[in-house]
Amino acid sequence: MAQAQKRALITGITGQDGTYLAELLLSKNYQVYGLIRGQNNPKRAMVEQLLPAVELVEGDLSDMGSLVAALEYCQPDEVYNLGAISFVALSFKQPELTGDITGLGALRLLEAIRIIDGGKGKMRFYQASTSELYGKVRETPQNELTPFHPRSPYGVAKAYAHYMTVNYRESYGIHASCGILFNHESPRRGHEFVTRKVTSMVARIKLGLQKEIPLGNLDSKRDWGFAGDYVKGMWLMLQQDEPDDYVLATGETHSIKELLDVAFKEVGIEDWSESVKQDPRFMRPAEVDLLIGDPTKAKKVLGWQSETSFEELIKMMVKGDLELESQKLAK
Ligand code: GDP
Repeated sequence: MAQAQKRALITGITGQDGTYLAELLLSKNYQVYGLIRGQNNPKRAMVEQLLPAVELVEGDLSDMGSLVAALEYCQPDEVYNLGAISFVALSFKQPELTGDITGLGALRLLEAIRIIDGGKGKMRFYQASTSELYGKVRETPQNELTPFHPRSPYGVAKAYAHYMTVNYRESYGIHASCGILFNHESPRRGHEFVTRKVTSMVARIKLGLQKEIPLGNLDSKRDWGFAGDYVKGMWLMLQQDEPDDYVLATGETHSIKELLDVAFKEVGIEDWSESVKQDPRFMRPAEVDLLIGDPTKAKKVLGWQSETSFEELIKMMVKGDLELESQKLAK
């Protein structure tokens, strides 16, 4: 007998990870629902065009009733909580909003599952945890057992969501797993994040549309992977018999300077010193230390590993931005 079609609900469907995950699940023949917030959400049209097979359901992580209604309507086998105020710099400016959406939002969704699923154990839950939990790191590289010390309101809110997920797993037996994902990027990354900011501005410099890139701390380092690889890990976590927490990372770290080297080289510029300006507006009140993830457990248990190298990732992003900017010019 053919297996019943699986159903998944994704919060954060308009974000980078939401769209990649939806594509993956659709390719596996899931019925995919995306929670969408607000009147006239400006990103709605983008999702409808990119993912016409996804059914959008109105709801908001700050509104418990809407989450209960969404679960009742979708009856998902799998719930992926990717929705959050996810930009660290913004979280310093709006810490309360970040706590409400990024932290309490996860709790509301877990409560909604507890109420709607009522101990049947049908609805599995994925929580988007983050390397920002490690913040002022206690050991390098970081694994699932490394203590947390978040360094931003975003990181603190994610710590709450992480522990709540573990708590609901232990208290109510919900199949709930946390993916502690290190930075993951793509041509769909928001322009506020440093990789996309650099690749889009490098493309504009190449096309003569801009002269320089204003940047904060050039010595920052991150473990950057490709979002398209990482959503496979999220899905794998929910296919396991037992829920658990996993680090997804490349295990490599690179600086903003290396990011600039690769991005400028892709457009034929070797010396970028004249094209980058230090700008205090982009410095953070507190920085995380050296983040490098240890993805050994994910490899061993899930058979997951990052497939795209740092250079391939940045080149892919520069190419995508060159195309986008050229299209805009042609209009
Ligand atoms: P995050 O790891 O989630 O904070 O990802 P981001 O891409 O926002 O930032 C990565 C690192 O780049 C941080 O250490 C920032 O301080 C550093 N950085 C340096 N200049 C910039 C900038 O102009 N914009 C952003 N977003 N980050 C910058």
